[in-house]
Amino acid sequence: MAAVRALRFHGPGDLRLEEVPRPEAGPGDVLVQVEVALTDGTDLKTFRRGHPLLLDRLPSPFGHEFCGVDVATGRRVVAANSAPCGACGPCRRGQETLCEDRPLLNGAYAEFLRVPERIARTNLLPVPDRLAPEVAAMVEPLACCLHGVERSNAGPGQTVAIVGTGPIGLMLCACVADAGARPVAVGGRPERQALPLLFGGATGPGDGADVVIEAAGTAESWSRALELVRPGGTVVFFGGRERGTELAVDSYRLHYEELTLRGSFHHTPRHVRTALAFLASAAYPWERLVTHDVPLEGVAALFADPPRDLLKAAVRP
Ligand SMILES: [Zn+2]
Repeated sequence: MAAVRALRFHGPGDLRLEEVPRPEAGPGDVLVQVEVALTDGTDLKTFRRGHPLLLDRLPSPFGHEFCGVDVATGRRVVAANSAPCGACGPCRRGQETLCEDRPLLNGAYAEFLRVPERIARTNLLPVPDRLAPEVAAMVEPLACCLHGVERSNAGPGQTVAIVGTGPIGLMLCACVADAGARPVAVGGRPERQALPLLFGGATGPGDGADVVIEAAGTAESWSRALELVRPGGTVVFFGGRERGTELAVDSYRLHYEELTLRGSFHHTPRHVRTALAFLASAAYPWERLVTHDVPLEGVAALFADPPRDLLKAAVRP
């Protein structure tokens, strides 16, 4: 059996490039030769702390944003990292992001990746001609952002403060602008202040916003989001935090100011399709979100000491 190279996660801080058997596609599966995988904040967090979904079974395949070639057909494809079952209670209620039977696909930091049948059937899409693979590979995080903006009900005439100026914050700017609202990126490093402008947003304090979307995933950013929203406004908590962490909410404000607080997690097949079309529209300079390029050998060092200007790195096996 041919050996291929894959990065595997052995525990916090321990990512190893290994020779593994080339994956084989079962019935309905699609074997993808990875052209490019993208790093994201979740991978970085997982590298440092581990992750309940990955720590399950070690060593674990790693990485979940990718674009590659379907080995059987030669087509360039992208796929989301999961697909809803369509049969459980939440799926039947139309809440596919809460699907109770949804294995997550990992293993994009590798030469080959087996996309299991359910994802291949539901959330694997051909990449439009002329769309660069490293841009197409953003389909999964952008689908999450589209879902988040839908959860916010942001629309024309509204100001939407986005707390966080990482790749997710910038994608959220573009999605908010596309929904007809005015995105304002709040906080972030001084060297990132020019970036929101490229994605339809402005920078500013964001106070009194009609809608606030939290996109940094820290205790401070969650509290900040609450402080910024105007009476009658909506806060969407987009950046995930660990189980057991709590949020202090002023009951007086929640009641007398009629605040709406919502969570947003993951994506649906509809958002995955919309995200790929949005990327292909070239409405925004998506390629600017890829600031670094590394081979598989370079990923562990990149995660161990991320450059200050890192947004996303393109990993080319
Ligand atoms: Zn389901």
